[in-house]
Amino acid sequence: MRRPALALLLAAAACGGDDATSALDAGADAAVIPPTADVTRDVVATGLTIDLAAMSGTAVIELGASAGPGASLEVGDLDIRAVRADGVDVPFARTGAQLDLGVGAAPVAITIDYGWRYHDDSDGAAAAGFTLTWPYYCGNVFPCRSLPADGSRFTLAVTNPPSGQTAVYPATIPTDAAAYQLAWAVGPYVRTSLGRTTAGTEVVVWAYANEATAVTAGTKHLRAAFDWMEQHLGPYRFGAEVGSVSAHWGGGAYGGMEHHPLWHVASDAMGDESVHVHEAAHGWFGDGIRLKCWEDFVLSEGAATYYEARVIEEVGDAGAGTAAWAALDQELANLRASGGGAIAWPQSCGQVDVLTIFTRVPYVKGALFLRAVERKIGRAMFDATMRQFYDAHDGEAAGVADLVDAVRATSGYDAAACAQAWLAQRAIPTDLTCP
Ligand SMILES: [Zn+2]
Repeated sequence: MRRPALALLLAAAACGGDDATSALDAGADAAVIPPTADVTRDVVATGLTIDLAAMSGTAVIELGASAGPGASLEVGDLDIRAVRADGVDVPFARTGAQLDLGVGAAPVAITIDYGWRYHDDSDGAAAAGFTLTWPYYCGNVFPCRSLPADGSRFTLAVTNPPSGQTAVYPATIPTDAAAYQLAWAVGPYVRTSLGRTTAGTEVVVWAYANEATAVTAGTKHLRAAFDWMEQHLGPYRFGAEVGSVSAHWGGGAYGGMEHHPLWHVASDAMGDESVHVHEAAHGWFGDGIRLKCWEDFVLSEGAATYYEARVIEEVGDAGAGTAAWAALDQELANLRASGGGAIAWPQSCGQVDVLTIFTRVPYVKGALFLRAVERKIGRAMFDATMRQFYDAHDGEAAGVADLVDAVRATSGYDAAACAQAWLAQRAIPTDLTCP
């Protein structure tokens, strides 16, 4: 996310649903496994086919091996119509938004047919033509596991858009991704190519025809920015075609969402270069490295905000980088004047509702903590560290502590105390370089 949006703060708790149990007669087959809860069962891959006209979906969920039977998925307010494996009904039981399956411990592919509803509070598929499921609303769109540490590969097909409209989405996400990374947008979209990076990645923009002026201003350096990150942070993992999609969030919503490889930028922000670069940077941090715990939110947003300024400094117009850093310094000064704002990095895992720490604090403190580390160990060493960190967590989740480990391994500098000072307390260090 680029900026906390009011709509997200107002997002309601996950919807419940009617309890239901499959009609399968378990007594007819001694081998039938009753529905068994296991919220840790690994989802290896998710194949989705979404019918926009019928408001239905089919999900093929590949479950990994486990020590015992059972699997649980989040299903929000989906209408679960059938659950099968190899054409045979799978026993299932639903408790509110959790679907428990009667499956064995061996790897298995489950096909789920379901209906879905529109959600207009940034908590599912919006009638305005976009999906937004961050942080834990994926279950309103498809059977899922919402914790960001639980990565899945994805395929997606969105069919039957309204006449004259195009559904914009990635057909595949080939590397493990958090459920909230997957999205689509539907509207009168026009595709513009910005060319290819040195590594061959094509950078594109999808927007409405009447947004051309904002697109031109906002994406002036986007190809160069993406190229810089590929060269300095490491190979991109989510496909060969990437870019910004104008998301018609409405209501004055600003910012973007890291739906790589086709991330969303609010239509109101399409002319703002920093938003495009910020969302692109999530391809490495937040998406490329997923969050180990929601408490590590500062790792994703701090890094994306650091690179938002850094990359504009590297490839943007003269003076634009200086202005971007000055804007962050001003935000920090404002936080300092208000007592530090809040703790950016709660010292727990899985205990905090991420919406309670979804303010500008993790963005600003996180970015300027990274700049403090950069100032301590030098820019070249910092760049080598971030590249090593990204490379070491290929398709995995990591937390702030893992970043501290990477800094120590690469540079020999122990950033633990600096991380505590910047991120784990309300007050802000007076020294903008790590001690
Ligand atoms: Zn962000």
